[in-house]
Amino acid sequence: MLRIARVIKDFASCFRTAGFQCYLVGGAVRDMLLGRRVSDFDIATDALPQEVQRRFHRVIPTGIKHGTVTVLFRGNRFEVTTFRIDQEYRDGRRPDGVVFTPSIEEDLKRRDFTINAIAYDLAEERVLDPHAGRRDLKAGIIRAIGDPLERFLEDGLRPLRACRFAAQFDFHIEERTFASIPAALDTVRKVSAERIRDELQRLLEAPRPSVGFRLMRDCGLLEVLIPELAACTGVEQRELHCFDVFEHLLATCDAAPRQSLPVRLAALLHDIGKPPALEREAGGGLRFHGHESLSAEITERIMRRLRFSNSEVIRTAHLVRHHMFNYDESWSDAAVRRFLARVGPEHVADLLALRRADQVGRCNDDSPSANLVALQKHIERILAADQALGLADLAVDGRELMKALGLTPGPVVGTLLEALLETVLDDPEQNDRSTLLEIARRLYAQRIKASRHRRGSSPGAGGP
Ligand code: ATP
Ligand code: MG
Repeated sequence: MLRIARVIKDFASCFRTAGFQCYLVGGAVRDMLLGRRVSDFDIATDALPQEVQRRFHRVIPTGIKHGTVTVLFRGNRFEVTTFRIDQEYRDGRRPDGVVFTPSIEEDLKRRDFTINAIAYDLAEERVLDPHAGRRDLKAGIIRAIGDPLERFLEDGLRPLRACRFAAQFDFHIEERTFASIPAALDTVRKVSAERIRDELQRLLEAPRPSVGFRLMRDCGLLEVLIPELAACTGVEQRELHCFDVFEHLLATCDAAPRQSLPVRLAALLHDIGKPPALEREAGGGLRFHGHESLSAEITERIMRRLRFSNSEVIRTAHLVRHHMFNYDESWSDAAVRRFLARVGPEHVADLLALRRADQVGRCNDDSPSANLVALQKHIERILAADQALGLADLAVDGRELMKALGLTPGPVVGTLLEALLETVLDDPEQNDRSTLLEIARRLYAQRIKASRHRRGSSPGAGGP
């Protein structure tokens, strides 16, 4: 018997008094049996969606075509789905249609894995487990229901889900289930990018995403979904590293903070440009010149292809682009200010977390790096001084600058502001209105002189 919250029992009795069945199904039952926190409650019933809509006040027709509505009940959300049988999946993406059925057993048969096909009868307070999901839960096994290849050919997302669950719970994929994945890869190719992305996102939230990505690599799934990552297998690195690029990326991803998707993704992809950047030196050494910007470009391409949001793409690619920095005690305050100006103070915590994970990922050694700790302290000291780190912090803006120097809008204004920022990053004392205007006048006069000298003529409107 499971311990069911009062509100769920009350919700269920609304169905029972109306003569309907009501089961808790899917992830909620599985997670309760595992003693884990349950995030969402899926309910299965023989009541048709229209009947559910009629019986509750606040109902959202989330996926009414597939028999699902969301009921808001005393501050909780319940996804209520009518028992159904999926018809043929001709396109490997979605069933062509669904047929409702009065049988919970029929409904459980269409589900992906045995551990996801356990139902809890809320009226009788008993577990219904026709596919021995509890046995597999105990043994830590992901096993497809019925013939695994048939099930994967119905829906190409399932192989990825198998790898995701394996990582999420640190389970094994049953042998026949795993062995059926290669034959289903053409079906995987047809799955929409959005569904793939949602599963990858859940994989990245696992304690050790490496478990899932390694399985994906071993069965060919990674080659289909992120070939750039699969290509890192066997690419050797320099002496400081214990692993090839692929294993280094996985170890870095595992070491990155679980709660931040952009940091975990940046960790997974930060060296993705190494294979194409690899050069062999005459003495036999390896060089990955400029791999960070190449990695950022590839990261952006992968994330756009997988339909990640614009802000996630930008944030992740930014971290990848800036992941190479080598702090030591020779860095002056000005050098730290320049670093902060370059990466943006709002990204610095993520970047340090990424770097920390990168170091752990070299040889799975998580002793803290003295230089990174020192950089963190140095950054805190600079940020506490509240000095200018960006154009918006300057004591003059573009308008004032144009007025004081008699300029019209044009690129020269931006160039001057950038130069003023450089000055202030070097010496924060100079961040004062009249000092900056004076410097700007001088710089502008120098530019005009230089350009007259170069062209032998006077500058046109808008300045040189
Ligand atoms: P999570 O806790 O991560 O949400 P979950 O098992 O609840 O995991 P969902 O995607 O929310 O996963 O799906 C709910 C249930 O619906 C699953 O437990 C499974 O029974 C069924 N299901 C979901 N996706 C599929 C699929 N692609 N094929 C077959 N059954 C599926
Ligand atoms: Mg769920």
